[in-house]
Amino acid sequence: MSVGIEQVKSEFPAIYGRDNVYLDSAATTQTPRSVLQSMYHFAELGIGNVHRSGHAWARNASRWYEDAREKVREFINAEHAEEVIFTPGATAGINMMAHSWCRRLECNGVGGAVLVSDAEHHSNLAPWHTLVSRLSDDEDARSYLPSEMRRVHIQRDGSLTRSAINASLQLPRLRYHRPILAITAMSNVTGIVNPIAELVDVAQEAGAWTLVDAAQVVSRQKIDVRSWGADAIVFSGHKMYGPTGIGVVYVRTEMMDEIAAPFVGGGAIEECSVGYHIRSDVPMEFEPGTPPIVQAVGLSVAIDFLNELGMDSVEQHTRELSMYLYESLASLPAVKILGEAPELRLGIVSFTVDGIDNVDVGDFLDKEFVAVRVGHHCAQPIHRFFGVDGSVRASLGVYNTKYDVNALIMALKKCIARGGVHE
Ligand code: PMP
Repeated sequence: MSVGIEQVKSEFPAIYGRDNVYLDSAATTQTPRSVLQSMYHFAELGIGNVHRSGHAWARNASRWYEDAREKVREFINAEHAEEVIFTPGATAGINMMAHSWCRRLECNGVGGAVLVSDAEHHSNLAPWHTLVSRLSDDEDARSYLPSEMRRVHIQRDGSLTRSAINASLQLPRLRYHRPILAITAMSNVTGIVNPIAELVDVAQEAGAWTLVDAAQVVSRQKIDVRSWGADAIVFSGHKMYGPTGIGVVYVRTEMMDEIAAPFVGGGAIEECSVGYHIRSDVPMEFEPGTPPIVQAVGLSVAIDFLNELGMDSVEQHTRELSMYLYESLASLPAVKILGEAPELRLGIVSFTVDGIDNVDVGDFLDKEFVAVRVGHHCAQPIHRFFGVDGSVRASLGVYNTKYDVNALIMALKKCIARGGVHE
């Protein structure tokens, strides 16, 4: 990276100078001091609500909030700041898009299949299920809700290809015209990064709307929403060194006419009477109520932090360390890694250990001061695909080094030698 790793680590009070090894950045990243301080500083100066009062504190808050929107725009190379909508997180963003599209379909009377892959997080499955399942009890809804969930098969190595999406699109006629492809840019279980521009392209050729879940990739690789070409892209602040409680939905300008905000309220209304209301313009139409103002300030500084490191350097650091992590784990005969394709991975490797329960492995590692995640990681379909219920997941952030990987391997060797029992 452009700055030395010791300097990077020193930015993180939770990491620096401590013996604990944090290998759970896919769940949430630690927070740099600059991000923590920015939020404190903002609130200390005097907090105000955005786009409401005219006093200095409120004006200040609106300026910081809109500056954050512009910062996000630049970071993901969106064309317009209005294409950036703040939400509480990626999950909220996917729900928002699912319901927005369906509200619009309700008006137009068309609904299509939703295509999702085996590699999706539950947050990119359940919001679509809730819409599709309503079909069974609501006759009228049949005309506008997505009519079915369609599976896009991942490859044996865990990757997602153009031909798999094509195959799913080619299945017997889509019941209604407009399919929606909702896929992850990077699996939170295998860490494999998908060729999003290609996948979006093939879906759009078939007339599909496209949503990309960028929750894992956004902190590990430069995102260029224009080159991806997707209609909507979601991610969370807390997985990119920002605070919890904020996320982003990018919506391509052309798509704004196809969606309608599922929730309404103060701040999102242009005019209101007892009997009707007229909505504000985007992006405010999609941000009813008081938005995550302090978090937007923190997210903006998290982006500064990543920009200072340089996303190309972050990617390179993560790629090299991922390979080291993969190879180190693969060298242990008792360890079985989920998926292959180490060259496609960015910072995540999940595995099981022969004869030892995942929970026991996690507990053992915790007692050795190595933090990993254990379970299905909210991604049961991909675990089923690999024939297991769950796994142990090691995931990397910018503060990790070979030292951390070595600590994991040493602790794992001990765990295996003692059959998972810590004295
Ligand atoms: N998608 C992916 C790929 C994820 O890894 C996660 C978080 N584990 C989410 C969506 C949901 O993110 P959040 O919990 O921040 O809403």
